[in-house]
Amino acid sequence: MKTKTDSQLIGLRCEHCGQIKAALLGWLKEHDELACDGCNHPIVVRPNDFVDAVKRADAVERRVSA
Ligand SMILES: [Zn+2]
Repeated sequence: MKTKTDSQLIGLRCEHCGQIKAALLGWLKEHDELACDGCNHPIVVRPNDFVDAVKRADAVERRVSA
């Protein structure tokens, strides 16, 4: 089931070249890695890396609706 946070853009930093790659949270949930544009190394998606971003998104939503 799709949630609002699935459309949240998450930035992941490539460990190889430092480039930030943005991807949708919903997409990241279904993929283990994404290819870096800069160096073509796969950027491993670690759920722990974007949990905080989701929490922040939730907090913003609460603030807006309150
Ligand atoms: Zn890279």
